[in-house]
Amino acid sequence: MPEMDCTEAFKRLDDFLDRQLTSEEMEAVKLHLQKCQCCAEEFQFEESLIRSLRSKLAHIDLPCDLLQKMKNALDQL
Ligand SMILES: [Zn+2]
Repeated sequence: MPEMDCTEAFKRLDDFLDRQLTSEEMEAVKLHLQKCQCCAEEFQFEESLIRSLRSKLAHIDLPCDLLQKMKNALDQL
């Protein structure tokens, strides 16, 4: 697999955080993050944002369909 550039890494950000990439893609993204300070910071920022949102959602007692809609909306980010 050719080395991933910033654009490619960025496109995979959400899937990377959701662990929805193939293991090869995960590796390529990880490799890029180790080399690229700029992307690493962006990834860290998004990861903490998504984690805090998801953990908040997990603790709110909402009607199922509303919760699902919010999760879907988050997945679109
Ligand atoms: Zn980069």
